[in-house]
Order: sequence, then C-alpha cells, then structure tokens
Amino acid sequence: MIYLDNAASTQIHEDVLNSMLPYLKEQYGNPSSIHRYGRLAHKAIEKARKQIASLINADPSEILFTSGGTESNNTALRGISMKNPASQIITSSIEHDAILEPCKQLAQNGFDVDYLPVNQFGMIECSDLKNHISKKTSLVSIMFGNNEVGTIQPISEIAKICNEHKIPFHTDAIQAVGKIPIDVKELGVDLLSISSHKLYGPKGVGALYIKNGIDIDPVMLGGGQEHGLRSGTENVASIVGFGMACEIAKNNLNDNIIQMKKLRDTLVEKILNEIPEVVLNGHSQFRLPNNAHFTFLGVNGEDLIIKLDEYGIAASTGSACSVNTQKASHVLQAMGFSLEQITGSLRLTIGIFNDHKEIEKTIDVLKKVVGELRSVSPYKEKYSFVSKI
Ligand SMILES: *Cc1c(COP(=O)(O)O)cnc(C)c1O
Repeated sequence: MIYLDNAASTQIHEDVLNSMLPYLKEQYGNPSSIHRYGRLAHKAIEKARKQIASLINADPSEILFTSGGTESNNTALRGISMKNPASQIITSSIEHDAILEPCKQLAQNGFDVDYLPVNQFGMIECSDLKNHISKKTSLVSIMFGNNEVGTIQPISEIAKICNEHKIPFHTDAIQAVGKIPIDVKELGVDLLSISSHKLYGPKGVGALYIKNGIDIDPVMLGGGQEHGLRSGTENVASIVGFGMACEIAKNNLNDNIIQMKKLRDTLVEKILNEIPEVVLNGHSQFRLPNNAHFTFLGVNGEDLIIKLDEYGIAASTGSACSVNTQKASHVLQAMGFSLEQITGSLRLTIGIFNDHKEIEKTIDVLKKVVGELRSVSPYKEKYSFVSKI
C-alpha cells in the first residue's frame, strides 16, 4: 500500500506506540490518585504537557488536554463565547466542520457569526478582517493551514490586528503543527488547536493552547481535572503518546520539511507535466509542505480514488468529513470553483513514511487511471485533451 492521505490521519510512530504501552498495561493508575500509581500517571501527563508546549514555544501551564482537534476547536469557540453572550465571532468560509458546526449552533443562539471570504487561492484578506471587527467582536478564529488545499493564512498579521483591538484570536493549527515551525509567542496567537493523530500520534487526543491570561469557561464539567477546564479522567496512555509524537516532530522538523517538500514538488511537477488538463489548486507559495491538491478536468474524483485504491494507493478528494456527508467541498466553493472543477479534485498528502519510489509509482498509476476514466467520462465531448490520450 502507498498511503498518501496523511492529512486525514497518520501512521502511529513506533516510538510513540512503545511509549504508550506501559500506560495501557501496568501503569494504569488514575492521575488524581495520591498513591504511587496515581503519582506516576500524573508525572507522565506533566512530561507530555512539556513536550507539547515545547513544540509550539508555549509554557506547559498553557496546554489543555482534550479528546482531539474537534474538542479543542469546540472548547475555544464555546469557552470564549460563554463568557461573552450574544457577541460577534469572526471566522472564515474555509474552516473545518469542527469550527463551522459550533459556529452554526452559536448563530442559532444569538451570536453574530461573520464568515470571511477567500480568494481563488484560498487566502483571506486582512483588510476584510479589519472591516468586520466591531465593538461586539469577542473572538476571531481563522485556521492556520487548510486541510483540503493546504493554503497557509497570514497568521501573524491576523494576530496583530486582533491584539490591537484586544480581541482573542484562535487558530485551528491541526494541519500545521509538526509540519511547519510554529512559535505561539512570536505569532501572537491566544488560542491554538492541535490534534495528535495528524502528527503520528494516537487518535482521540489533542490539546488547546490557551495563552496565560485568556479566560475561558469550561465546556466539560465534573471532577475538575485540568484546573477545572476539562473534567474527566485523563487519557493517560494517549497523552503520553501525543507528547512523544510532539518531541519527535520537534527534533525532526527541518529534515521532515525538506523531505516532504522534495517528494511533494516531484509529485506536482510530474503530474502537471505528464498529464494533460490538470490544475494545481491552492497557493503556490503559502502552502503546507506535504499538500498537493489537483483538479483533473473531466474526471470524477471519487471514481479516481476508487481506482487508485485498486492499485494500492490511498488518496482523498478533500476532507474525510465532507466525504461522509457527500456534499461538494465548501472550501473549493468558497474559492469560486465550478461544480465540475470540484468534482475532479484529488488531494495527495505526503507523510514522513513516504519515499521517492512510492511517488514515482503513484505518478505512473495516475497517468494510467486518469486516461482510463477520461475515455469513459460524461465530459469527454467537452475536452479536446481526450483525443490526445
Ligand atoms: C483533522 C482536523 C480536525 C479534527 O481533528 P480530530 O482530532 O480528528 O477531531 C479539525 N481541523 C482540522 C483542520 C483538521 O485537519
């Protein structure tokens, strides 16, 4: 198998798995217990908190553990909103559903939610943000790197605008953490979401960075864990694995960026050169190093994924979530794409376990299956390229 869907989830790193095993076996204590089992579990959690903080240059006290990226996003939005009833929230039209859905609910509950548009490359305009800010604005939430097309937003500029207006700024950085250097202090962000399974850690665990001094209401109430901000017995083994994943990501960040970019650029260059009527979507410069997103005109992306799967290649049309609901990508719609362009989309996301041989094989298979699908495409009359194949 060739796995090129690393934006959806990643293979767990072996060192991560090994770090978790003791906490699934003999170290089963509740971190709130006073005896040595409890103390050991507590210590393991605090070590992980430091490892995660270190990856984004936060203080460990600013890291809140959650059940994953979705909960981190919900906690940021609802935690701030509950402190500011009927206020205004500014977000973007290309956010993950884990932002859009809580925003929808907040809008039904008396909040004004503004969705900033994006240009054809998936980028917001900072002047748009400035124009939307009002006395009522209680939170700005703009994602760091987009999960479908990989576009990276001008995060430090956005943070600067928010800081000037004393408005908390949250960013869903789930696709960016561990893939590009992130320093929360330098960027000036107030809240930042991370998910473990997007960076070679286990699923079902994540974190929310909350800058010291930013006040949120807890979403989950109970035993008062995580300083009362997130009750519930901690997922010790997963937190330990998540911490290890962050340490590994930090130690290998620069090498990984170089390797992924090299593989990604080869993939992009060859696909654009060797297959007719293909477009690379997203931004040419401000882009996650592992993301490639294409439109193959005259091809149905879902058919393409099924074909690729038959050849042992795992790919995606876009986000895993929008596939479940079978709706056209809201990200590509926001970028102004036609339904036909959206239909022909394919996302290939590189990971640290991919190699050059896999990329070459993928290009060969793509050439073959795109040609096959086009020869039976309902759009084939429309395109002259079909005769070229
Ligand atoms: C994966 C992802 C999420 C959801 O994270 P989970 O840990 O799967 O809940 C949210 N936002 C973005 C941008 C993502 O890529």
